Amino acid sequence: MIGGVDIGGTKIAVGIVDDDGKVLARTQAPTDPDRYDAGIELITRMLRRVAAQTGASITGIGIGSTGPVDPILGEFGDVDFLPGWRGKAPVRDLAGIFNVQVALENDGDAAALAEAGWGAGRNRSRMIYITVGTGIGGGITIDGKLYRGVDGAHPEVGHHVVDPAGPECSCGFHGCWESLAAGPAMAAWFEAHAPADNPHRDGINAQRICDLARSGDAVALQAVEHEARYLGLGLANLINLYAPDAIVLSGSVMKSSDLFLDRIRAVIRTGCRFVPAEKTDLTLASLGDDTNLIGAARVWHYRFAS
Ligand SMILES: [Zn+2]
Repeated sequence: MIGGVDIGGTKIAVGIVDDDGKVLARTQAPTDPDRYDAGIELITRMLRRVAAQTGASITGIGIGSTGPVDPILGEFGDVDFLPGWRGKAPVRDLAGIFNVQVALENDGDAAALAEAGWGAGRNRSRMIYITVGTGIGGGITIDGKLYRGVDGAHPEVGHHVVDPAGPECSCGFHGCWESLAAGPAMAAWFEAHAPADNPHRDGINAQRICDLARSGDAVALQAVEHEARYLGLGLANLINLYAPDAIVLSGSVMKSSDLFLDRIRAVIRTGCRFVPAEKTDLTLASLGDDTNLIGAARVWHYRFAS
């Protein structure tokens, strides 16, 4: 039984995951971005609690974390969301506490490994996993192996530029895919285009816009159209660059994928004429809301079991 640890900017999820990728017990708690030592104590307590719930002993620990991380050294890099965790070594520290092997990956790579190993990406030679939620992230696997950049770096698919006249992004560019097509971008578009007296403007989010679109709201339908176009442009770029077998789509925005997929496919048909884009399967992730947690456990399998 593997202990999975999914470390995000706002919460840490911990679970026991069996050898088929099934979550047997899980728990979560808020992340303290400034106190690493307290974080490791919290993770230790949560791992012991979920292990006790299942009656299992933990034979290994996998960590997926918001990045950047150094998967080879097992250390946090210059993590934006967790200033107190920078340069710390959770692999060494948890291995010392539990006396098992521990592995660490970026959470996008961890989720990609999960879908490639246990989910919709199984038996796909060249797979790109994309998650669209509060940001856009992902990972690339080739024959089940993670694509790594120089020095083990994780490529940032959400930060390729789709429109240089677009909104400013935290990375330094304007008009990154993430800044145009993640959930908050959809909400920002709605706020900017809905009339001042629109009753839905306050606190609108992507999920609510999709619900409104289903009920025929005109502005929401336009927001969906705009979102699908930008999702399509980014996905078309990935297809032109990689000609993958499959793109596996995940994340909160993709829960409404039925509203976007026809338009996305139309955008891809318009601009991917020099690659066999029709052979790239656009498919939905199959592991559900626990993909990141399952991915964290998969990180251990990827490093030590295969
Ligand atoms: Zn960016």
